Amino acid sequence: MKKKAEVEAPETLLEAVRYFSDKERALDFMKSIRWPHGVACPTCGSKEVIFLENAQLWKCKAKHARQKFSAKVGTVFEDSPIGLEKWLPAVWLVVNCKNGISSYEVARDLGVMQKTAWFMMHRIRLAMQDGSIEQMSGRVEADETFIGGKARNMHKGKRGGVGKGTVGKVAVMGLLERNAPDKTSRVRLRVVKNVRRHNLHREIQQEVVKGTEVFTDALRSYSGLEGEYVHKVIDHAECYAKGHVHTNGLENFWSLLKRGIKGTYVSVEPFHLFRYLDEQAFRFNERKDNDAGRFVKALSGIIGKGLRYAKLIGKEGSDGLPQTPTPWTTRSLLSDFGFGMD
Ligand SMILES: [Zn+2]
Repeated sequence: MKKKAEVEAPETLLEAVRYFSDKERALDFMKSIRWPHGVACPTCGSKEVIFLENAQLWKCKAKHARQKFSAKVGTVFEDSPIGLEKWLPAVWLVVNCKNGISSYEVARDLGVMQKTAWFMMHRIRLAMQDGSIEQMSGRVEADETFIGGKARNMHKGKRGGVGKGTVGKVAVMGLLERNAPDKTSRVRLRVVKNVRRHNLHREIQQEVVKGTEVFTDALRSYSGLEGEYVHKVIDHAECYAKGHVHTNGLENFWSLLKRGIKGTYVSVEPFHLFRYLDEQAFRFNERKDNDAGRFVKALSGIIGKGLRYAKLIGKEGSDGLPQTPTPWTTRSLLSDFGFGMD
């Protein structure tokens, strides 16, 4: 197969489905993202490999276990019989459908069973989790909201105090770093157990550089941030903005998020809400890119995640990471989440 210097991505969904329905092309594409400098053996790193056309596998010339490998080895696509010609358009769909997409739609578009589509989407969303370790700085808004149940679209202010009427609802903490001159604003979302002080403070301490200007509303849980941050409060009982002191960026994000949930998803179960949040945060943070750009970026992230994921489930030996008690194998994913979801 010929080498490609640059990654050429299709530009529309229809193109993506058609483009990747050709297995060789799907493989070429995966190869160009995964091994831009030539195919290398995932076990020993050697580039002395031969391609076995019929089996669609490579074989390392060095003598060791697992000499043969596929383009899916060590990625989140591994250990599923689903071909790249289905996986790649599925990534496209999840990444680029603005308000989210149901597994029924994915199933129809890709020509797979709904259960299969559901499984693929969950795995793709898992892989889209924000892997950035760069903390936020400059001007950061912090806010929290509740999702689920009948109060799905209610703002916290209308529901009474913290801890009241939150049964069946999931508390979500959001951080938004405002535009710096050279970058667009970005969000980070976390499902939190509740909105008590230590939970909210911990998220901020983990994600935001000390000394940063942090804007919040008057929720008491935020008090005490002054020690480590330049904490500025906007009391929504008085007004919504005082100069640059406001949380309107996050307020706007929440309304977009909730519109998406209401418009597309039958239900958002607390247990997998975080995946949906990751998907929405990714789409927001990459909004300036075009569909093809987002697709390539997500896919690169997915492949990187896959490599760590393989280590977590013990396929690549130990590298000091703790063994996760819940490996995301096909079986555990399906039984953990159950069937029949949207
Ligand atoms: Zn090797």
